[in-house]
Amino acid sequence: MFDFVVVGGGMAGASAAYELADGASVLLLEREGHCGYHTTGRSAALFSETYGNATIRSLTRASRGLYETPPAGFAEHPLLTPRNVLFIARADQEESMFRMVEIFAQTGEKPSLALDTDAVCKRVPIMRADYVAQALLDETSMDIDVHGLHQGYLRGARSRGARITVSAEVVDVDRGPYGWRVSTNNGQFEARTIVNAAGAWADAIAAMAGVATAGLTPLRRTAMMLDLPDGVDGSSWPLVIDVDEEFYFKPDAGRLLASPADETPSAPCDAQADEFDVAVAIDRIQQAADLPVRSISRRWAGLRTFAADRSPVVGFDPRCEDFFWLAGQGGYGIQTAPALAKVAAALARRRTVADEILETGFDPDAVSPARAGLGSASHVSVA
Ligand SMILES: Cc1cc2nc3c(=O)[nH]c(=O)nc-3n(C[C@H](O)[C@H](O)[C@H](O)COP(=O)(O)OP(=O)(O)OC[C@H]3O[C@@H](n4cnc5c(N)ncnc54)[C@H](O)[C@@H]3O)c2cc1C
Repeated sequence: MFDFVVVGGGMAGASAAYELADGASVLLLEREGHCGYHTTGRSAALFSETYGNATIRSLTRASRGLYETPPAGFAEHPLLTPRNVLFIARADQEESMFRMVEIFAQTGEKPSLALDTDAVCKRVPIMRADYVAQALLDETSMDIDVHGLHQGYLRGARSRGARITVSAEVVDVDRGPYGWRVSTNNGQFEARTIVNAAGAWADAIAAMAGVATAGLTPLRRTAMMLDLPDGVDGSSWPLVIDVDEEFYFKPDAGRLLASPADETPSAPCDAQADEFDVAVAIDRIQQAADLPVRSISRRWAGLRTFAADRSPVVGFDPRCEDFFWLAGQGGYGIQTAPALAKVAAALARRRTVADEILETGFDPDAVSPARAGLGSASHVSVA
């Protein structure tokens, strides 16, 4: 009998297992042959304190400390490296840029930097001067070593005594004599509490346990690697993002990682890039930048899973006291993972959330599974 069984070995499950294993017995079950196969392994790896709603922004701020000073032995390399973000707007996007300036004003210790077109083209020489009307530079954003963070959590969880079992798909959940009985295609396990960190499948796990679903919607997002023009070194460029998030691109290992920032509702699945979305990305980027596309070296897609209000769902289910939610991280589950895992571990042990997290403005009620507006539309019935 374990204290906690964590379902899902993505960033959410790995980070929760790490935090919970500090003083409790933990089993993590992952369906795939390795942890991180789904959304966690498919992200754009950006840390931005201006991205997402106020809850996300507070969790991101609260995560910065662990990223900058992880525990001894947690990671071999720095988890964050500087990567400025350049928000660009066409003349018809003035309103959106105005809203972005307001977000910066609420967020920033460091003010944003408005850039004129010349300065934009100096920083990113492929940009078209006649496309960009306004630009704002966020100098606080970072690239995340997603693999380093995820492996740090898994390694740390193991060294704290957690058991991590891959190729173990949870197929049934019911009540045993003393707690939950979790059946997988690789054995049956018992635990006092289930932590539902199953990403796009979180509503499906709830349904298996007879718990009302949270109305989570997986949204597919496409990404691809494009070659830079011959002889161009883009390594020091910022991530360039349309202010309405219609596309973005950023340097990545000698190429450009690009996305149309699509959000196509999907059933939980092993998401694949759709050719139409790839074409949309190239078209939007080529309107803004002079970037001939000769080949696409890699394309992929992942599911960003959201609750209706775009805040995560974290806490005990209001009608099932030993079923714990850690889901709905949407497009922010990497940058917010350190703080969210600490929040989850505190709440799962029925303790209060640490002051340093609350001081960022984070309100636990904003992520509560009992909040209004959850539990409607769900993709649970689709395999
Ligand atoms: C293109 C793209 C770009 C992104 N960019 C960023 C970014 O820049 N910054 C950022 O912070 N976030 C970003 N994200 C979002 C981020 O990747 C996600 O929020 C995060 O990975 C979610 O982690 P997770 O652990 O909840 O889900 P997942 O990584 O999907 O993990 C869930 C796991 O549960 C397992 N599972 C499901 N059902 C079962 C079952 N029945 N039994 C056992 N195991 C099960 C799955 O196999 C899976 O491994 C991006 C996402 C995409 C797709």
